[in-house]
Amino acid sequence: MAVTLDSARELDRQDPLATFKERFALPEDVLYLDGNSLGAQPLAARKAVAETMDQWRDDLIKGWNQGWFDAPERLGNLLAPVIGAGEGEVVVTDNITLNIFKLLGYIIGQRGDGGGVVLSEGGNFPTDGYIAQGFSRFGGHEHRFLPEGESLEGESLEANLAGVDVVVLSQVNYRTGALRDMAATTRLVHAHGAEVIWDLAHSAGALPVDLNGSGARYAVGCTYKYLNGGPGAPAFIYVQRDNQRHGWQPLSGWHGHAVPFAFDEDYEPAGDITRFRTGTHSALVYSALEASLAMWAEVDMHALRTKSLAMSELFRDCLADLFDPYGITDITPAAGERGSQVSLIDTEHGFAIVQALIARGVIGDYREPGLMRFGFTPLYLSFEDVWQAARHFREVLESGEYRQPRFNVRSAVT
Ligand SMILES: *Cc1c(COP(=O)(O)O)cnc(C)c1O
Repeated sequence: MAVTLDSARELDRQDPLATFKERFALPEDVLYLDGNSLGAQPLAARKAVAETMDQWRDDLIKGWNQGWFDAPERLGNLLAPVIGAGEGEVVVTDNITLNIFKLLGYIIGQRGDGGGVVLSEGGNFPTDGYIAQGFSRFGGHEHRFLPEGESLEGESLEANLAGVDVVVLSQVNYRTGALRDMAATTRLVHAHGAEVIWDLAHSAGALPVDLNGSGARYAVGCTYKYLNGGPGAPAFIYVQRDNQRHGWQPLSGWHGHAVPFAFDEDYEPAGDITRFRTGTHSALVYSALEASLAMWAEVDMHALRTKSLAMSELFRDCLADLFDPYGITDITPAAGERGSQVSLIDTEHGFAIVQALIARGVIGDYREPGLMRFGFTPLYLSFEDVWQAARHFREVLESGEYRQPRFNVRSAVT
């Protein structure tokens, strides 16, 4: 390979984030390049869940007054600095799909009577479009798609904004890894009298995000990818401070009520970010996430970004000579224009190559059509891990291993 193992090890010696790896439980024989789908387990998360189990056993319902009930706001405040938000601007709740629905209703509800127009981007993670369609269908609104491929161009976005009330955009595209300029796009959308809901699924914990500095008013994101909250960990909503009291959000449940335990007949939204909660959450999954977020509070996000880009570059450098001979197209954007992943396309063999890698303990993922995705998570991957993963990739191709029939069998979750 063009890059030597010694040079990868030298990068590890100079890595300011190297010690975080010890704080994760990772199987010995696995090189995990799928932290962009499900983050690895922090050791502290296992301990925190065990403690919450004890608390449930010993304190029973008293637990709700011992930190369970206000966990959505407390965790929101822990998360806020990681995404450039302020105190009281983030609440951890529900999942991205529901949170987009809530924000769509909240924003369109402010804009007077009559149907609104919702714009989703083609090529985004499908649930963002699906929920916008469901919202529009049942609310008498119009849903449109921003055509895929046009979606990164400021000018075409402008052409597509006529009459639009709210647009849902990902900061980092889940397939290509392309990173949008959040500040410029937010300005453009606002200048057209529309609002934007930013989806941070592939940017929160992947790179420094600056919601306040970008002028963003609304955002959602999940915590089970780069933020290591665990399977099914709750998502979050960000609403900029001055925009938290504009009306109801449509999933007006008791936990979003101004006085939930008054048990009033009529709904009255809480006067702050709590308005975006719905109903009862799981104290267990919140405790796992809280342990992870406490660790994130120690992370220098600029060091994280530097390492993330260096790792994805190392992976590509190790493999660059193979792409042409094997018919693989590297669609990874340039360093300043990507999130924390490498995206390679092989429509014929991509699925089988990823399965052959998984059989060797190198876990990436495959997304139709033809996309091999490798996520780089600086807290628990070393440069040597990246080098070894690339070595396996090379061996899978050069040996022809991926042609074995067993690597062409599909299961439910890919
Ligand atoms: C992962 C992801 C989601 C997941 O949505 P959930 O409702 O939390 O399951 C949504 N949008 C994007 C862009 C994603 O990458």
